[in-house]
Amino acid sequence: MNQNQFNFEINAKIPGALGRAGVIHTPHGDIQTPAFVVVGTYSKVRFLPPHQFNNIGAQAMISNGFHLSRISKDIEQSGGLSKYSEYNCPTITDSGGFQVMSFGSGLGKVVSMDKRNIAREQFKAENKNRLARVTDEGVYFKTNEAATEKLFTPEYSMEFQHKIGADIIMAFDELTNIGDSREYNEKALNRTYEWGVRCLLKHQKLTREHVEKPYQALFGVLQGAHYQDLREKAARDLGALNFDGYGLGGAFEKEHLSNILFWCNRILPESKPRHLLGLSKPDDIFVGVENGCDTFDCVAPTREARHGKVYTLDGDINLRNAEFRDDSSPLFEGCQCPTCKSSYTREEIRKLLKNEGGLKTSEQIMADKKLAMELITAHNVYFIIKLTHQIRQSIFKKKFFDFRDEWLKRYYE
Ligand SMILES: [Zn+2]
Repeated sequence: MNQNQFNFEINAKIPGALGRAGVIHTPHGDIQTPAFVVVGTYSKVRFLPPHQFNNIGAQAMISNGFHLSRISKDIEQSGGLSKYSEYNCPTITDSGGFQVMSFGSGLGKVVSMDKRNIAREQFKAENKNRLARVTDEGVYFKTNEAATEKLFTPEYSMEFQHKIGADIIMAFDELTNIGDSREYNEKALNRTYEWGVRCLLKHQKLTREHVEKPYQALFGVLQGAHYQDLREKAARDLGALNFDGYGLGGAFEKEHLSNILFWCNRILPESKPRHLLGLSKPDDIFVGVENGCDTFDCVAPTREARHGKVYTLDGDINLRNAEFRDDSSPLFEGCQCPTCKSSYTREEIRKLLKNEGGLKTSEQIMADKKLAMELITAHNVYFIIKLTHQIRQSIFKKKFFDFRDEWLKRYYE
């Protein structure tokens, strides 16, 4: 086993922009880019059974490192995440930083910004409602069920990500919130750099200790909010380190997205792949590709499917709406996904979803709902994957901008 198992080749570029089409080679297979990576938070994509994975053209899966850390030993013993997921595809895990910090911010509470070494008792008194606090050492956090604080460090993130065994793992970073000050973002960025260095050292050590295992690529994660100089600093500093690729992170506001990606990607080494974390709206994907991002992930296509939202080229529809009650067309006419190629109509899937159509047992209601969610999930994920595939083709044909303008006009108008 050696490092040559992971590499990235660029096959075509968008003239006058940073975008490219290429292939990421990993020990568990290739990812043709630009690519949408499906989200399997707990190692499986909700309502996407393994037999459908290839049917919808999926190439790779990203899982939540934090949630899987609790079962990392089991995953290791089963042969790693690719096998454990039953998708047998290239896999990615995130560092867990986002989840740890969301114990503070995600619950409507603030992440403690204090860098000082507050004594535990004092911390408890001052931060009764805060469940996470960030220090240079790492993040102290409490879960609702745990009475005591736990320390989450960059080294720990590397340890469990190595056990989980995804092909691409992410360095531990500090995600800031949209409301954070410039001053705080500077501090957080420095910390993210220091944590990146610590991750790299730990990763290199673990790699040397386990040469028998397939090589795992470590991506550095860039933060810096919407500040140009901070984003550029992150790109220069992390770009100079020996990461295998880069993750672009942050709570992106739409108006800043293209600038942020441009600032980072024109500085980062061109030869390394870049993953945009957490965005999959079609206009965001186009902006991401144009500005040099290679892979994307987001829970939206699967989460929205569970709420009855169906993607179509003419804009999204909600199948729960009454207008689809007698609609005998497929989810989207001409779509080649497994659902639309089957005989299921909008009317039928709506009935399954809404528990209509006569008296049913509770088991039957559950089974029908599950089926409806599987049918819509396959369609939505296929829809986004197909979009990235068509973008890839448009780059090869030197027609990216024409394709973008035509596609977005139809979808958003
Ligand atoms: Zn379809």
